[in-house]
Amino acid sequence: MRVILPDKSELELPDGATGLDAARAIGPKLAEQAVLVRTNGQVRDLRLPLDDGQQIQILTMRDGDDPDALWVLRHSAAHLLAEAARRLYPGTKVAIGPPIENGFYYDFEFPEPVGEEALERLEEEIRRELGEGREWERWEVERDEARRFFEEQGEPYKVELVETADGEISFYRQGDFVDLCRGPHLQDSKPIKAVKLLSLAGAYWRGDETRPQLTRVYGTAFYDPKDLEAYLHRLEEAKRRDHRRLGKELDLFHFSELAPGMPFWHPRGMVVWNALEDLRRRENARRGYEEIKTPLVFDNELWRTSGHWEKFRENMFFLEAEGREYGLKPMNCPGHCLVYADAPRSYRDLPLRLAEAGTLHRNELSGTLHGLLRVRHVTQDDAHIFCTAGQLEAEILGCLDYAFFLYDLFGFDMRVELSTRPDNRLGADEEWERAEAALASALGKRGIAYDVSEGEGAFYGPKIDMHMHDVLGRSWQLGTVQLDFQMPQRFGLAYAGADNAEHTAAMIHRALLGSLERFIGILLEHTGGNLPVFLAPEQVRVLPVSDGHHEAAFALAGELRFRGFRVAADARDETLGRRIREAEVAKTPYIVVWGERESRDALAVRKHGGEQSTMSVDALLAELEAAAKL
Ligand SMILES: [Zn+2]
Ligand SMILES: [Zn+2]
Repeated sequence: MRVILPDKSELELPDGATGLDAARAIGPKLAEQAVLVRTNGQVRDLRLPLDDGQQIQILTMRDGDDPDALWVLRHSAAHLLAEAARRLYPGTKVAIGPPIENGFYYDFEFPEPVGEEALERLEEEIRRELGEGREWERWEVERDEARRFFEEQGEPYKVELVETADGEISFYRQGDFVDLCRGPHLQDSKPIKAVKLLSLAGAYWRGDETRPQLTRVYGTAFYDPKDLEAYLHRLEEAKRRDHRRLGKELDLFHFSELAPGMPFWHPRGMVVWNALEDLRRRENARRGYEEIKTPLVFDNELWRTSGHWEKFRENMFFLEAEGREYGLKPMNCPGHCLVYADAPRSYRDLPLRLAEAGTLHRNELSGTLHGLLRVRHVTQDDAHIFCTAGQLEAEILGCLDYAFFLYDLFGFDMRVELSTRPDNRLGADEEWERAEAALASALGKRGIAYDVSEGEGAFYGPKIDMHMHDVLGRSWQLGTVQLDFQMPQRFGLAYAGADNAEHTAAMIHRALLGSLERFIGILLEHTGGNLPVFLAPEQVRVLPVSDGHHEAAFALAGELRFRGFRVAADARDETLGRRIREAEVAKTPYIVVWGERESRDALAVRKHGGEQSTMSVDALLAELEAAAKL
């Protein structure tokens, strides 16, 4: 048989040859370093036979940047962890241990509860295993035999996994530890150059709170100790930039158990919020959007019409009054449809662009709430565009231009994704055809590179999602532009065409920053709290050097404030050095010191991340004007 190598050359192999055989045929060094075979994009254990005519790529320990290569390494490290746990804590029952993004975990039922000190001990034991060296052996077993094996081992979780597994059952052994596992795995433990156990957490067996609670041990592994070091540094940095921590330090918001998942915005946080709202309002007006306001609470009748009752009820809050049942709105769209339907519409009225940063409530599970990044109180920079089919493309272009105007303002690095029809969808194939083509064509016209996510569209239409990459290399979805042919039909949204006939309107849902709560959380982490000047709660802080300079400093602060900037003066009886440090901790973008040597022509100005410089009041005003007023 033959297989095809990445350079398109063919490799002749005996029938039944494995990935490892292929590596050996290419060279002994490759065989020694091989960790995985990729065949047509699928990962495959090196020990498994290849198929005739297959394209193959052999990954080695030098592919430390490849997600699949890291995956197999971390999966093998998880097995070493399970081996260590069984040895150090006799009677430990093992559950599941998959690789995950940035690492791996393994769930255990320890005979006695363990604390943080277990991480150190387990890691030490894994290092010992690595010192001895481990090889992985793979074989297939009959289901009954597998069940019997784990019953004898006293491993009830594995027995349950055997009973519910589909397809062939395979075992992997390293040292004296045998695991039920689909693989793939490394040949041996040599490529594992760095392992670190990171944390412990509780996790229900199979995520089911009626089942036993297990202990989840998180860890990570790399091909190169330097990569581990860089990763730990990123984790440290992420902790330092945690928006919940910054929110407290900068006095922006807090949360209370009395309203889980719903932020309390403090005065300084409200300044940031309002600055974003101002930006949204002004830019909407420039682009022909009209602002509306719709109720928070609607009769459930509305949610039945919109389809939310059917598809989104679990995520909604409900209440009752005078025997009528109401739901708090989780999205603005149905209310906007009612506004559209309130008057007869003609093609001359279209496009109609309705904007509302409405207050939405979503009943997210309490366990998934995470600061501003996952809240129950959601405020999107939302709008709905009602238009004719012929106007769709121009409207989508308008949304894309608007979105990138905003992202450029923040200097974001974006990735765009076009999500197409899912299996479970409403509407005819021709409608989907047309809608997907309109989105793709708009992206093409703007020369925006994008990935296609087949089958990831919403049930009512395809969409363009826009993700930003933050300084820590994480990806966050911000904007979405979604086409919808369903809601207009459900609500009977029609218009009289130029032909005098009645047509169903097309509808675009779009939010560009996403939820304002989440956007502020992401921005805080991305900037480490150093918000752009136009969002900073306090843009300038003026510090008089001593008592003799109070008057001049207060006058300057008043003047800047009068010009529309957010300015504070700090004349407390503290050393200048201390007051400067506090202004820096508060992430004030401009710190102005006024002392003996300063005058209107020569202010001492410290800018965030820059050196101290001397500038006149006029120059400072001009600079603030440019940075703060956009
Ligand atoms: Zn496994
Ligand atoms: Zn919507």
